[in-house]
Amino acid sequence: MNKQLYALFGNPVSHSKSPLLHNSLFKHLSINACYTRYLLEDGALLKDKFFSLGLHGANITVPFKENAYEACDEIDEYAKNIGAVNTIIKKNEKLCGYNTDAPGFLASLDGFRPKNVLILGAGGTARAIAFALKNEGIKVTIANRSHGRLEFFMQHGFECDVFDHLNSDLKFDLVVNTTSAGLSAEELPCEKEKLCALLLNTKLVYDCIYKETPFLHLAKELNIEAKNGLDMLIWQAFFAFEIFIGHEVDSKLIGIMKEAVK
Ligand code: NDP
Repeated sequence: MNKQLYALFGNPVSHSKSPLLHNSLFKHLSINACYTRYLLEDGALLKDKFFSLGLHGANITVPFKENAYEACDEIDEYAKNIGAVNTIIKKNEKLCGYNTDAPGFLASLDGFRPKNVLILGAGGTARAIAFALKNEGIKVTIANRSHGRLEFFMQHGFECDVFDHLNSDLKFDLVVNTTSAGLSAEELPCEKEKLCALLLNTKLVYDCIYKETPFLHLAKELNIEAKNGLDMLIWQAFFAFEIFIGHEVDSKLIGIMKEAVK
């Protein structure tokens, strides 16, 4: 059987650990497949690239999850609500889309059950996390630097505000950064004074970026428990892997992925 090819589409992608995660499990399970990265300049070209590269499946990262949603011929019910796709597979020459960021985020909380959550950012990841938490009966507020992407959340009944108008006296059990601030540049998602006030009132600070960001440094300076996005990355990859190979995998094998990124 020919080797099956998988890829991560995004911009940037050079930092990504996804190839390590997927290739470790392909190897462990003796599956003849290979996962690589593809730097995509234009989200509108996603579908053409997927087929011209001869891929069986792919993950999509920043900033193309909404493009991936548009590119799919069929979308699973869960991803349909979210309006963002991070995993695609080819079925009968059609592109089918899924979202594993949502279950990946929930699994990464490792039993922590917040009552109310503030999400910073309003892109594809924010959508996934907002719906995952809402489905669990958790109250979610979204704040973003600009108004445009908040429209989607307003239409779905979430509390929303731009950073400038957000009341910093509000109390949240969990504050999650889903903005790309801190990914390539050393910057905070919003103005430091407001952020400090919000973080001082919270139990856990979470950054979806899986490295030590200025946001996480600030939380640590304030002595607030802080978690980066590595566990989320691993869990979303594990759930995507199951979609790629078409069946469930013993959840203990997450250990292989964890070992690979150590
Ligand atoms: P999107 O491009 O869809 O959304 C980006 C969001 O960040 C928008 O709300 C945008 O605001 C905001 N933003 C961008 N730059 C800044 C900045 N300098 N300051 C403040 N806000 C900013 O990205 P995604 O939702 O796909 O991904 C977001 C982040 O989450 C990425 O860093 C990605 O690496 C991480 N991620 C991690 C995962 C994991 O498994 N650990 C999984 C998925 C994502 P605006 O609307 O105003 O442009």
